[in-house]
Amino acid sequence: MLREGGLWEFLRRGLRSWLARLERPVRAMPGVERRLEEEYAEVLRGLEPLLKPYRDLPAFHRLPPEGRSPEWVFWHLEALAAREEPRWRKGYASGAVYHGGEPHVAFLNRVYALFSQANPLHPDLWPSVARMEAEIVSMTAHMLGADAAGEEIVGTVTSCGTESILLAMKAYRDWARETRGIVRPEVVLPVTAHAAFEKAAQLLGLRLIYVPVDAGYRADVAAMARAITRRTIALVASAPSFPHGVIDPVPEIAALARARGIGCHVDACLGGFILPWAERLGYPVPPFDFRLPGVTSISVDPHKYGYAPKGVSVILYRGRALRRYQYFAATDWPGGLYATPTLLGSRPGGLIAAAWAAMIALGEQGYLEATRAILETAARIREGIRRIPGLEVMGDPLWVIAFTSKEFDIYRVLERMGQRGWSLNALQHPPAVHLAVTLRHTQPGVAKRFLEDLRESVAWVRAHPEERGALAPVYGMAATLPFRGVVRDLLHRYLDLLYTP
Ligand SMILES: *Cc1c(COP(=O)(O)O)cnc(C)c1O
Repeated sequence: MLREGGLWEFLRRGLRSWLARLERPVRAMPGVERRLEEEYAEVLRGLEPLLKPYRDLPAFHRLPPEGRSPEWVFWHLEALAAREEPRWRKGYASGAVYHGGEPHVAFLNRVYALFSQANPLHPDLWPSVARMEAEIVSMTAHMLGADAAGEEIVGTVTSCGTESILLAMKAYRDWARETRGIVRPEVVLPVTAHAAFEKAAQLLGLRLIYVPVDAGYRADVAAMARAITRRTIALVASAPSFPHGVIDPVPEIAALARARGIGCHVDACLGGFILPWAERLGYPVPPFDFRLPGVTSISVDPHKYGYAPKGVSVILYRGRALRRYQYFAATDWPGGLYATPTLLGSRPGGLIAAAWAAMIALGEQGYLEATRAILETAARIREGIRRIPGLEVMGDPLWVIAFTSKEFDIYRVLERMGQRGWSLNALQHPPAVHLAVTLRHTQPGVAKRFLEDLRESVAWVRAHPEERGALAPVYGMAATLPFRGVVRDLLHRYLDLLYTP
């Protein structure tokens, strides 16, 4: 199912999966695990300067016996924030901070303060928050084709795109079990779909059937059609995909799902607050939302291009029946009758208020202008990358721009960019790097600086073919090593490191 075009690719994958079978016996050999632990530790030591820069500040491994004054605490935190702010503020990050304008952030913080004690678990105490949540859902639904859907579009606010995706997959699983008797559910998705689907599959007991992408990194619809079985509960499409920022052929995928009577989830976490406005600005945006009758759910993130604070996503469904499969209700708990719409129990009312405030303060005009600025900047960056010899832009992206090289190790370019302050995303299968353009990059001079730094980084990598760097070999190893258990163990130790004071 993972096969990409070309005999070479086929053989390479075949060799990899054959080698993967050797992982267990090889790791069972004496001394191998100990050597691996040493390797992991060596790799992570290279990351420590990046992840643990605050050795000079007081650390708290236990509660202070007596509390510090609020002034001291605030001073401490201000010092941390001040060190970190310039990097994202000046646009050195890919994605991460999507608006970050000073007045906008200050406004959201004021709104949060008003509702920092509010919890939608108690709608009798905060009916205002319940109303704001319903309005966020409704505004988002109407932005994504609810008027032309022919059915009611409903949904809930969640804490992140991952939770939205998880809940949609739960809804399809429980719907298929109840109405189709499917006990071993399968979901068909392109290899480029977000890792959140893999997390959902692990948690929910779903089997994922991956299909390849075409030369433009868009889902192969014919392969999707072939992958559908009696157990398939839903198809997945991205608008656009996280790695390459290209939009899957949603009309074809949605039509396929509809013909088979199964769900079609469109992951618009990244594009939900950009594509409707891009379409209005005349950019070539294929239909991807509820105007397509086969689309049955959409995940979309106010905390990305909706310019809300972090911690706010929306999951939308075609019809109330599907949303009910997401709900939880405990009828016999001694704690009372208890029902929650999402994964969380208590939820942050302040974040709902701030997301609502962002949407009301921006309005259609605000999102349109923001999208115009982002797409113009992204076009400049995309064309600039294309003009750098040796770099290739992958597919036909609008504002999440992935690039790779046939001539040199792209991870070494990533590393060199990191030394110049840039925090870009490393991709794999194939090795590549991407920049998700946000409002931060539309500030004067940022796109120019990015392209200059990229040009110089490429020149440096070409001029120093023998130099290995610290991170590039690790990315390279992780991207190509057939022993995926080793890569997983390294990632687990990376997470351990984050929790090591
Ligand atoms: C960001 C993103 C997600 C996951 O969202 P989180 O809020 O990080 O959980 C899912 N899909 C796509 C396409 C994304 O870009």
